[in-house]
Amino acid sequence: MKKKVIHYKALSPAQTARLSAAFDLEYVDVKAPGGEARLRERLPEAQGLLGSSFTLSSELLDLAPRLEAIASVSVGFDSYDLPELARRGILLCNTPDVLTESVADAAFSLLLASARRTVELANWVRAGQWRAGLGEAHFGCDVHGKTLGLVGMGRIGQAIARRASLGFGMHVNYTARTSKPLANERYGARFLPLHELLPACDFLCVTVPLSDETYHLLGAYELAQLPAHAIVVNVSRGPVLDEAALIAALQAGRLRGAGLDVFEREPLASDSPLLRLPNVVATPHSGSATHETREAMARCAVDNLLDALAGKRPANLVNPEVWQARC
Ligand code: NAP
Repeated sequence: MKKKVIHYKALSPAQTARLSAAFDLEYVDVKAPGGEARLRERLPEAQGLLGSSFTLSSELLDLAPRLEAIASVSVGFDSYDLPELARRGILLCNTPDVLTESVADAAFSLLLASARRTVELANWVRAGQWRAGLGEAHFGCDVHGKTLGLVGMGRIGQAIARRASLGFGMHVNYTARTSKPLANERYGARFLPLHELLPACDFLCVTVPLSDETYHLLGAYELAQLPAHAIVVNVSRGPVLDEAALIAALQAGRLRGAGLDVFEREPLASDSPLLRLPNVVATPHSGSATHETREAMARCAVDNLLDALAGKRPANLVNPEVWQARC
C-alpha cells in the first residue's frame, strides 16, 4: 500500500506527478477557507507532509501519530519546533543551496534600489512629475566602492559577498560565528565582531537564520552604531531586526534608508509606518520567488520526501539526530 502524503503548498504538474507515482497524494490548501479544518481531518493518516509558510503546532502534530517526515519547501526552519519533532521521531528536511543565488540577487536588488532610489523615482516619473531636470533632492548614493557589512556569512551571505566584491568593487566585512577563510581570500572579506562591523558600514545586509540567539540581534543600540548615511537590507527573517527600532531610526533620519524583504509580521500590514517612509523599499518575502528557483525548491523537497519515506537518508536533513536514532 502506498504511503499517505499531504502537500499544503501547490506544486507544478511535474512534481505532483513524481509524488503521485510513489504515494497516495492529497493537496490541502491550508490558506483557503476551511483549509486548516480539512488538514486536521487528514492528518491522522499522513505519513509525509510537504509545504511551507504554515506552522505545524504540537496540537496539529498530536493529530498525526503516523507522521514520519516533513519536507519543508524553504531553507529557513525557524517555524518548526525541533525538540518537539525530535521527541516524536519526525524527520525534517529543507531546501538549501538551490535558492542561494536568487536570494542573493534579491538582496542586491534591494541594496541597489535603496541606494539609487529606484522605486521612489520610478513612481515619481509614473505620477507625471518629471517636468524638468533633476536636482540634488532626487540624487541617490553610489554602491560601487562602498563598504558592505554582512551579518551572516553562510551560503547566501557569501553569494552576496561575491556580487559585492567582484561585481561592484565593494569592501566586504562580515560577522558570523566562525571566520570564513575562503571568503577572506576570494573577496578580501574581513571577519569582525558586530560592534566593529556596524560603524564601518555604508550598507548593512542581514542574512543570519532566526534563532533564540539572533532574535532582535539588531536593536536600537546596534542601529545607533551605524553611520547616518547607512542603508539596511534584510533578507533573512523579520524578527532578527527590531522593526520598531528601525522605524524610529528611519523616522529620525538616523539612517539613509532600508530595503526589506522580511518583516516581524507577514504579510506586512498596509498601515505599517514603513510604508509611509519614501526611503523604504519593501518586497513581499520574495527572495526566492523566481519561476526557476521555486521549481528547484519544490524538486528538492520532493527528492527529500521520496528518500525519507523510502528509508533512505535524505540529502537535506535538518535534524540528523532523528535519523541516527532510527538506525
Ligand atoms: P546558512 O548557510 O546556514 O548561513 C547562516 C549564517 O549565519 C552563517 O554564516 C552562520 O555563521 C551565521 N549565524 C548563525 N547564527 C548566528 C549567530 N547567532 N550569530 C552570528 N552569526 C550567526 O544559511 P543561508 O542558506 O545563507 O540562509 C540564511 C537565512 O536566510 C535562512 O535561515 C532564512 O531565514 C533566510 N532566507 C530568506 C529568504 C527570503 O526569501 N527572504 C530565502 C531563503 C533564506 P557560521 O557560518 O559561523 O555558523
